[in-house]
Amino acid sequence: PSASTKASESILKYTALDDIPVGVKKLTDSFHKNGKTHSIQYRLNQLRNLYFVIKDNQDAICDALFKDFGRVPTESQILEIDGSLNELVHTMANLHNWLKPEPVKDLPITLKSNPIYIERIPYGVVLIISPFNYPFFLSFSAIIGAIAAGNVVVFKPSELTPHFSQLFTNLLSEALDDDLLFTINGSIPETTKALEQKYDKIMYTGNNAVGTIIAKKAAETLTPVILELGGKSPAFVLDDLSEKELTVVARRIAWGRFTNAGQTCVAVDYVLAHDSIKERLVREIVKVVKEEFYPELNKDNKDFTHIIHDRAVSNLSKIIKTTKGKIVVGGDVDEASRYVAPTVVDNVDWDDSTMKGEIFGPILPILSYSSLDEALSRLQSRHDTPLAQYIFTGGSTSRAKNPKLNKISQQIRSGGAVINDVLMHVALTNAPFGGIGSSGSGSYHGWFSFRAFTHERTTMEQKLWNDFVLKARYPPFTEKNQKL
Ligand code: NAD
Repeated sequence: PSASTKASESILKYTALDDIPVGVKKLTDSFHKNGKTHSIQYRLNQLRNLYFVIKDNQDAICDALFKDFGRVPTESQILEIDGSLNELVHTMANLHNWLKPEPVKDLPITLKSNPIYIERIPYGVVLIISPFNYPFFLSFSAIIGAIAAGNVVVFKPSELTPHFSQLFTNLLSEALDDDLLFTINGSIPETTKALEQKYDKIMYTGNNAVGTIIAKKAAETLTPVILELGGKSPAFVLDDLSEKELTVVARRIAWGRFTNAGQTCVAVDYVLAHDSIKERLVREIVKVVKEEFYPELNKDNKDFTHIIHDRAVSNLSKIIKTTKGKIVVGGDVDEASRYVAPTVVDNVDWDDSTMKGEIFGPILPILSYSSLDEALSRLQSRHDTPLAQYIFTGGSTSRAKNPKLNKISQQIRSGGAVINDVLMHVALTNAPFGGIGSSGSGSYHGWFSFRAFTHERTTMEQKLWNDFVLKARYPPFTEKNQKL
């Protein structure tokens, strides 16, 4: 085991490999045999227990995340807990409605009197694998969707946040029936063992390399997967912004990059600014970083989160070293405390190290363009389908009235898009959140989680007295039989 696995194991109790098939089987039997999850009341009771356990332990969650990677507690509260509890309340308030069979309009081949409807039935046993970066929000939102939909859940949190994962394991087992949820803790061996079991749906959130492993493994048993992956999400800054507007844009971009020290799947990965406003934008971003957000630009700043592990620090440090001459603010690294300063890199070229893969850290490369068409074709050929795209414009936000905005949003396919802001679409309780192409497939949140974890079963009711109307379908196909 690596040093980080050993450190994690000293805080988080890893699940014994032999216990994994036993635990999954127990849950599978529970789904099939006791059928508890078919009851709406049971689902609601479990969700309510979860609500109170989290509500009572918010500070402990923030504290655990601070221990794990110096996560600023206010960021944990605002970006993980508040939104998650809102989504839970929304789910509970709407569950009765969501479960109502949806009537299907009569079609010519059916008879008027036959009810046809879509029922949303649980898949059965769902495996949810979550990452470290928002370990509460990303797993909680999926878990409540799966429970609301009537599934039993096998849950694998990240081993990279051992304090949080141990606390969350305890809270889940305190709140939930052990016929409903089984948590598997550990790293690659435990996850691999978990993946050897049979599920009815798998949801993975994390990086693309592991996403590929999960999708291949799931394909062996034709298990459907939801993949929530990463990518390089661009922020376009158009040439039509006033001085005053650029100040706001700079603040929003800086927040979109440096929150959680850049370890956000929908973070602004890089900026593409029109060359007529680029200088002013860079000046404003530097000002925001140095004067507004982080006046003490050092490792002791309590408002800046640290990096998850040594390997990530060393990767970020390498990127910083190769871009030395272009750094306009930041650039400091303290390996001992895993601190990487908020760093802005100006005059970036498409071939620079910052533009190779998803940065996933507090480094903001800024590129300029003179021709939007050229910039778009560069982007299409390199980072085709990011998880998010952000477009800042001083003009109309209506695509019909803003041809440049229209062109970007048409030509760049992305999981989500926000005009004149960043990140906020993730917090929408009842809008689908997910990627496209390399940034993933499938989506969730609110109703869309419920949909993601249910099968849409078309059900048709027929009468037994009406065979005379249906006789034309039976052989022999004589003329007499074909007539009504
Ligand atoms: P991570 O290292 O915590 O890994 C995620 C999960 O995969 C963990 O539970 C881990 O145990 C498991 N895992 C790791 N290696 C494995 C292997 N070889 N086989 C099986 N399981 C394995 O998190 P991460 O991947 O570093 O997270 C960061 C990435 O996730 C970024 O690319 C980010 O963009 C992406 N992300 C996407 C979303 C989204 O909603 N689309 C959200 C958050 C993060």
